[in-house]
Amino acid sequence: MSGDALSQDPAELRKRIDTTRAHPARVYDVFLGGKDNYPTDRAAAAAALAANPRGYLDVRHNRDFMRRAVTRLAQEDGIRQFLDIGTGLPTAENVHQIAQRIDPESRIVYVDNDPVVLAHARALLTSGPEGRTDYIDADFKYPAQILEQAAKTLDFDEPIALALVAILHFVDDEEAYQVVRELMDALPSGSRLVLSHITEDLNAENIRAVQRTYTERGFTFVLRTKEEVERFFTETPGIQLDEPGVVPVHHWHPSPAPAPEAADPTDVETLDDIDKLPYLDINDVTDADINVYGAAGRKA
Ligand code: SAH
Repeated sequence: MSGDALSQDPAELRKRIDTTRAHPARVYDVFLGGKDNYPTDRAAAAAALAANPRGYLDVRHNRDFMRRAVTRLAQEDGIRQFLDIGTGLPTAENVHQIAQRIDPESRIVYVDNDPVVLAHARALLTSGPEGRTDYIDADFKYPAQILEQAAKTLDFDEPIALALVAILHFVDDEEAYQVVRELMDALPSGSRLVLSHITEDLNAENIRAVQRTYTERGFTFVLRTKEEVERFFTETPGIQLDEPGVVPVHHWHPSPAPAPEAADPTDVETLDDIDKLPYLDINDVTDADINVYGAAGRKA
């Protein structure tokens, strides 16, 4: 185990946590039924759900895309190193649990800029004979800093999968493309790029209403079209987009997860009951429920 970031003074860390405004990691946690969030985050989640009542399915199926992508890269492509930027709060299945189940020696570096994620990051670290994980407290917009620290854990002579799952829509305009180029430039041949991204292509009216609730709360929330998401691959030198290309997440190599326990949707009264909302497994969910694209590519 490494994790220099975890040696931060707890009093300093507490000072960084702003509970007066909603934060993306915590709002996402509300939608996953987590408890690491504050009333402002729950209010933001409630407003988003009022604008798009099936919005929780975007979050669940985004997370399920991440599970399938990591599984596929590890199992079929033999990827053993992951750089996961925009990790989010620890939940049931994080990248290291998925990758290390396939090969216990897999190494994972997590990166997030949210102090609440940092406060919970110990749950992401593994030590011992199995592979290593590390956590970096850094902003996506400073790739040089991320790469330097990641090199303490990852071997940059061997392929690395860069995972940017549901983070790029929090980064404006050209800066997002430029940072992806800088990160991929640093990775060796055979490396992978996996990403997911919110879009307005599928259910424009609902997702624009969600966007309004987030921008009112001070989040950047960029809805990119399919072409704009494809640019992350086409404008990054040496990267080739894998089949099936940029597709709504539930169409990306679908394989069902074990079904969660059935809950009675009539029990849902408050956001505390979010995990009781109907699950809609990958076979049942439709394009009318989803606003997230997923894709993966490889570096020649
Ligand atoms: N990848 C996870 C979590 C997505 S939520 C998943 O898909 O399940 C988005 C995460 O990105 C949040 O944890 C948020 O704190 C983080 N994030 C947003 N902007 C960031 C930035 N500029 N630098 C680092 N992390 C960022």
